[in-house]
Amino acid sequence: MINNSIAIKNASAVSSNSPAIRTEMPELVKLIDLSRCTGCKACEVACKEWNNLPPDKTENFGSMQLHRSLTPTTWTMVYFNEAVIDGNVKYLMRKNGCMHCENPACLTACPSPYAIVQYENGIVDFNQDKCTGCQFCVSACPFNIPQFDSVSNRVYKCTLCIDRIDAGLPPSCAKACPTSAITFGEKHKILDNAKTEIKKLVKRGFKNAKLYSPKGVGGTHVMTILPYGNNTEDYELPKNPEVSPLTTFTKGPLAVFGGLFMGLTTLGSFAHLITAGQSKAPEALAAKEGKEEEIDRHNLATRIIHWTVAISAVLLIVSGLSLYSPKLFWLSNILGGPQSSRFLHPWIGVIFLISFGLLFIRWFKDMAIKPYDIDFIKNIYSYLIHDEKNIVKSDKFNGGQKLVFWCFSAGLALLFISGLFIWFPGFFGSFAARFGLFLHELTAIFFISAIIAHFYLSLIAIPGSLAGMITGKVKSSWARFHHGLWLNGNK
Ligand code: SF4
Ligand code: SF4
Repeated sequence: MINNSIAIKNASAVSSNSPAIRTEMPELVKLIDLSRCTGCKACEVACKEWNNLPPDKTENFGSMQLHRSLTPTTWTMVYFNEAVIDGNVKYLMRKNGCMHCENPACLTACPSPYAIVQYENGIVDFNQDKCTGCQFCVSACPFNIPQFDSVSNRVYKCTLCIDRIDAGLPPSCAKACPTSAITFGEKHKILDNAKTEIKKLVKRGFKNAKLYSPKGVGGTHVMTILPYGNNTEDYELPKNPEVSPLTTFTKGPLAVFGGLFMGLTTLGSFAHLITAGQSKAPEALAAKEGKEEEIDRHNLATRIIHWTVAISAVLLIVSGLSLYSPKLFWLSNILGGPQSSRFLHPWIGVIFLISFGLLFIRWFKDMAIKPYDIDFIKNIYSYLIHDEKNIVKSDKFNGGQKLVFWCFSAGLALLFISGLFIWFPGFFGSFAARFGLFLHELTAIFFISAIIAHFYLSLIAIPGSLAGMITGKVKSSWARFHHGLWLNGNK
């Protein structure tokens, strides 16, 4: 839960900050001096006690470490490692937990307004009330800190005891540490102390001792003195952590491009309606010929499958767009709120995949691209302006529909694979999840645009198409004009 009495300087998925009760506040930093840490785990116990976190099952895997990594109910833990440094075996230990980055990747990635906030004092806090359980923060964090709890469907991490800090107390781990390896205070004072301690360490022979507060994340509000500063990986710390360019690109330029592209597709459809209008040629043809028949076009099974695809596509677009842009976050209410919308999105995707697969089996032969389809595509302008004299004749589906069908099929494969990467970040890894999110959004932009165009053409621009998919029958004039080769083959 957000601490409302501390000013917020940055929040996920919002462009302006909330009004603050206190506005001026010094930056605060926790310093962990590993040269003083004895690995006693008092900090772990204090964290559990203060935050009322239950114990996790321990695991003996040949280490003093209680279990292999942080969990939703273990927000800090001492990591132990043996490493050969300068030809000698060293026993390294490091208190792990959220670094409270100045430029937090988790906050950049989070699609839910105020699910992650950064207070004026630099502390990064998660607000589980607003968390959708999407795990974008999990894959974005370069330190592998946020922990997803599949029972509550929310993500947890160290709060730096923001409630204690608000009451003028130090974090519980700093209070409990018996060797003063953890200290806490205003940034400038802590930095002065760190410099002094590092000088002492160098004098004692730790010539590579250094302060770990990586620039790639703008520095951190949890800083660590590493006695062996050139061996960051031996402390299980990334050497050059950063906010992934994939994350910033996906949340920035790609989101803008997507909005423009989908918006232009919608505007283009309106522009077409205004300039070219609806296709009236079949009606004119019927009047000229003086006779009209009903032709079977889609049987019942095909229609049921098609409408399952259509309904699931709409629900996917609604739930997907709510995660895509903070401006569209309200769309999640259509599916019962942010949590349920996020939860349902991949399952609706599974329904979409299965139903489209069935449609694919029914249609793929009819969708084979023939030479006259190529001519149709080359000459598509005539079709769009309803220039009946120059439209190339089509069979059951025209060249444009066939092209869209194959693009849809390829796009769906990409959406499915990238969706799996996002759905199971713990299994596929952080990079795959970040890349999956980028690919999913990029593919979805074209996918949604194609669906907008398809809806416009079938519902508005080409009268008769919708009726064909509802009743299964089309008028002979419609079939002759739009699918003349198919009609001739049917007779
Ligand atoms: S360490 Fe990870 S979870 Fe903590 S603030 Fe940085 S990016 Fe967010
Ligand atoms: S799981 Fe999703 S909504 Fe929750 S904090 Fe992480 S990024 Fe934000």
